[in-house]
Amino acid sequence: MKYYSTNRKTPNVSLEIAVTQGLASDRGLFMPERIDPMPESFFHNIESMSFQELSFEVAKKFFGEDIPDQILKKIVFETLSFDTPLVKVKDNIYSLELFHGPTSAFKDVGARFMARLLAHFTGNENKLVHVLVATSGDTGSAVANGFLGVPGIHVHVLYPKGKVSEIQEKQFTTLGQNITALEIDGTFDDCQALVKSAFMDKDLKNRITITSANSINVARFLPQAFYYFNAWAKLEDKTRKVVFSVPSGNFGNLTAGLFAKRMGLPVSKFIAANNANDIVFNYLKTGFYEPRPSVSTIANAMDVGDPSNFARILDLYQNNHQSVVNDIMGSTFIDDEIRQTMLAVYQTTGYLLDPHGAVGYRALNELLSESETGIFLETAHPAKFTETVEQVVGKGNVPMPEKLLSFMKGEKRSIEFPARYESFRDYLTGLK
Ligand SMILES: *Cc1c(COP(=O)(O)O)cnc(C)c1O
Repeated sequence: MKYYSTNRKTPNVSLEIAVTQGLASDRGLFMPERIDPMPESFFHNIESMSFQELSFEVAKKFFGEDIPDQILKKIVFETLSFDTPLVKVKDNIYSLELFHGPTSAFKDVGARFMARLLAHFTGNENKLVHVLVATSGDTGSAVANGFLGVPGIHVHVLYPKGKVSEIQEKQFTTLGQNITALEIDGTFDDCQALVKSAFMDKDLKNRITITSANSINVARFLPQAFYYFNAWAKLEDKTRKVVFSVPSGNFGNLTAGLFAKRMGLPVSKFIAANNANDIVFNYLKTGFYEPRPSVSTIANAMDVGDPSNFARILDLYQNNHQSVVNDIMGSTFIDDEIRQTMLAVYQTTGYLLDPHGAVGYRALNELLSESETGIFLETAHPAKFTETVEQVVGKGNVPMPEKLLSFMKGEKRSIEFPARYESFRDYLTGLK
């Protein structure tokens, strides 16, 4: 299967190029040239399949031409070493819990898949591949844990000193093995600038092989389609219309859902659930896309002012606003509304939402009609945001899962750097 750029100013490329290069050379995003529907028999048998089995069937539609079945199956099965349960919160509203992976957030799925796919493509070279990733918190932990122990790859996580939460920092500084944490005396923007400088440094690129694990990579966003199928497989009543509500930032998760629908998954509507960063909400309302600087909210993984995957959505719908709104509804909530939702749901049902999932839940609660079933994506475990959640539901009411606790016990190891490219380059040129 070939991949084209949403800007269409560069020739189509192979899966291998799309994955190792990340962004197209005309700065567009890669899209698969076809979206093949799943056969009807797949939907008849879906309830009898495990998450891993049904995901393998979906994965073959995207990657089957480029990767031998046995290898693809291994990649899918290793990636999905955890389930995505569908939990009833109240009548007709379900939580699709995507936080049962190693770092307790949905990004584990894409990061684990990409790590294994990249290793498949680069594994025959006897050179080490260096993945550079700048993070403000969550991406670093998913990527570091996704690539942990994957042969032939070394990950370097750049993060701003003193500007990530303790649990986030522990998730990428305690791993060891092929993961190195670089603690930068600066901001997230400084970290990103260092990574960008490295990618533009031709001299450096002649010496070592570097790549990025950015969230726009096709190997990170396409596998997110798997769990939409898994959600539907687990629904008891499949006769009702289904609405998915997706707490969105860069819109990779929602785009993957749109792909699932194109593959035949019977989804009636999607909701693009925004926090106060309402750029896409406004686009849905007016037809005008007007990016602006992000504002900080308590659902901070969704604080995005110019969502990178929006170009993919426009491309899927050929830039036709009416077609987009036929499939996607919008909603936007400010922090107080998010807090009220967490509290009300906790008090009436006992279910503990994280701030991102709360945005998805509230959108369903407002937009769902009597005849529809709603599923919101619970994108992270509430204990990843203990401070915020405890302020709402009370101290001691947010149990920390064993997995997160064991990160807290690990010993932090990092290398400190000033935010100067010369120092970073010296470090990189010292690598093999
Ligand atoms: C990354 C993230 C999001 C946003 O997902 P996108 O695919 O960027 O829209 C939502 N919630 C959590 C917890 C996240 O980490």
